[in-house]
Amino acid sequence: MTAPAKIPPATLARLARLGILHRADLLLHLPLRYEDETRLMPIAAVQPGMSAQVQGVIAHSEVAFRPRRTLVCRLQDGGGELYLRFLNFYPSQQKQLAVGRQIRAIGEVRAGYYGLEMVHPKCRAADDDTPLPQSLTPVYPTTAGLSQATLRKLIAGALESLPLADTLPEPLLQKMKLAGFAESVKLLHNPPPDISAHSLEGRTHAAWRRIKFDELLAEQLSMRAQHRQRGKRAAPRLAPQHRLTAQLIKNLPFALTGAQQKAHAEISRDLDRPHPMQRLLQGDVGSGKTVVAALAALQAMENGFQAALMSPTEILAEQHYLKLRDWLAPLGITPVWLTGSLKKKDKREACERIARGETQLAIGTHALFQEQVEFRKLGLVIVDEQHKFGVQQRLALHKKGTGGKGMASESLRAHQDARSRAVSDETYPEDRREASKHATKQIDGAADYEAVPHQLMMSATPIPRTLAMSYYADLDVSVIDELPPGRTPVITKLVADTRREEVFERVRAACLEGRQAYWVCPLIEESDALERELQNAIETHQALCAAFPEINVGLAHGRLDHAEKTRVMAAFKAGEVQLLVATTVIEVGVDVPNASLMVIEHAERMGLAQLHQLRGRIGRGVARSLCVLLYQQPLSELARARLKIIYENSDGFEIARHDLLLRGPGELLGARQSGVPMLRFADLSEDAALLDSARATADEMLRDFPEAARSHLQRWMANRHDYLHA
Ligand code: ADP
Ligand code: MG
Repeated sequence: MTAPAKIPPATLARLARLGILHRADLLLHLPLRYEDETRLMPIAAVQPGMSAQVQGVIAHSEVAFRPRRTLVCRLQDGGGELYLRFLNFYPSQQKQLAVGRQIRAIGEVRAGYYGLEMVHPKCRAADDDTPLPQSLTPVYPTTAGLSQATLRKLIAGALESLPLADTLPEPLLQKMKLAGFAESVKLLHNPPPDISAHSLEGRTHAAWRRIKFDELLAEQLSMRAQHRQRGKRAAPRLAPQHRLTAQLIKNLPFALTGAQQKAHAEISRDLDRPHPMQRLLQGDVGSGKTVVAALAALQAMENGFQAALMSPTEILAEQHYLKLRDWLAPLGITPVWLTGSLKKKDKREACERIARGETQLAIGTHALFQEQVEFRKLGLVIVDEQHKFGVQQRLALHKKGTGGKGMASESLRAHQDARSRAVSDETYPEDRREASKHATKQIDGAADYEAVPHQLMMSATPIPRTLAMSYYADLDVSVIDELPPGRTPVITKLVADTRREEVFERVRAACLEGRQAYWVCPLIEESDALERELQNAIETHQALCAAFPEINVGLAHGRLDHAEKTRVMAAFKAGEVQLLVATTVIEVGVDVPNASLMVIEHAERMGLAQLHQLRGRIGRGVARSLCVLLYQQPLSELARARLKIIYENSDGFEIARHDLLLRGPGELLGARQSGVPMLRFADLSEDAALLDSARATADEMLRDFPEAARSHLQRWMANRHDYLHA
């Protein structure tokens, strides 16, 4: 093997822009499409719309000004003629295309001003003996300043000089009936001319299947490895004492559903292990996740540990706080409430109580963690509506070590800190950092290990199974798939905004009957969104106040100061406010059973998951509930399709499945914002079967072929040593 030639720094920078940092990355930089230069077509046979390669002699060449400076050449091959047109051209091209030159041109044929033509065809000098290439010509994704020719040369070099050993052990290859890795990459970079273009471009060819499988396998391996890694980390064992938990269950005004009991049992078992739990509790809106979380927190407390409950919004945090305060008061437990909007003095006081271990349960927004809260003895962290915190943040939770530089957000740094502080040492020396290091060593004698609290994540965003398998492969999942009894199904109506007046009347009637209603103002997806959303809510509030003098109309939005928000929410909960105008701050968690009517404005602008969440706020009491989706005409095709889905479905998982088909996985997970690279080759909505086998294979490889698993990850993940510039 010859050493690869040095790559100039400018090229390295451009390669990096394509995500190519290592030589091995070149192998996996696969073509977007192919050009067929293996065949020549007689000019007489070409037709508009086809992509073709022709060869002939330039019969005429001129620079025309019609309407712009254009190089126009006439190419003849004896049987016919064709025009080649270039809007931007170099003198060198003009020379190449001088009269009498013989050339080969490849491009799209169209019917032009002069007759059949190709605009900006790829041309090269050729005579009758110039051989035709033996394989299709790959066209790679590229970036400004990096030519296809350069990429091809680099990739060809990599194919020649790098080992292409299969990372899948023979028995697995056989079992999966997969094509070999080497043959697959070679084929995709240089496909033979007789290959089915359809299977190549549609990415259904066996070679593509292999690559997609490998990609999914790498993803599964890394997440399963994370999962296993946890088994090596230490966490405090929180055995069920059936003291506080039993008391809460006894005091509840309702019986737990079967699904809640099952989830509780799974969590309880995890907490009783000496390794950190990482469990996701999934359940549709209103399925009753809060009480399950409370039981988990109590199990930590009855073992003398603290628990923290973290919410994405202040309103949600407060709801939790109020609910848990009521539930826990008879048990002699007073949770501490901690959010960004607390007065400095109160915050300090709360933090001190947490640090001294005087409080066993802290509830709050992520401010809880941002504000450098020191826990005395943290055993469990509960994150509600975890999808609101983003993929990045969740993944970062698994990263080791503190010093959150480069972390996606502050809350993460806090998580990390909270983790490293979760050391159950008896004394609490001055220098806590030192102490935690020390204790970490004591636990297992290895600097690599540290004691971390258990984690419970909760989400009401239903994620279709294929997506969940990929996205949550590193988590254990409990599902609450049953709603508490006595829920009344919500009737959904789609109403054009032109019939607003009728909706007003409905709202008035409901409120006068003693029922309560939400009026949700649109989400605006622009940079000044918050301002406009706010403005909108304020104006709607004024309009509704004017329209219904006999009704108490409240207003809740993200910018209200805390005391005001608390007052409005409490008044709505108590029934003093009958109609609540709200921005999407009520999207998650608000719980007022007497509210049985919801009007959502500009429903066509909202995401399906969001509409589903909003709608879940009603239908919690005995009254028949109605959700009115107001939309502005005209509706786009997509908006119409989405409203139809929400109208026809009440099951969150069904809605999510449709959403996946409509929008693709990236959007569904909000990965656009989170910046997590999604899959490059595999497509979760199409390759579900491959994902299934990748998942099974990942477990098998980790168990039986750990070496192979390591080399597979090496090939696909960026932890290699063969940097291009090395
Ligand atoms: P979510 O899963 O959306 O967070 P919550 O935990 O807020 O749902 O529960 C929704 C409502 O259902 C709350 O009022 C809660 O007290 C009530 N609830 C929870 N479990 C049950 C149950 N088993 N039976 C009756 N009501 C329940
Ligand atoms: Mg909830």
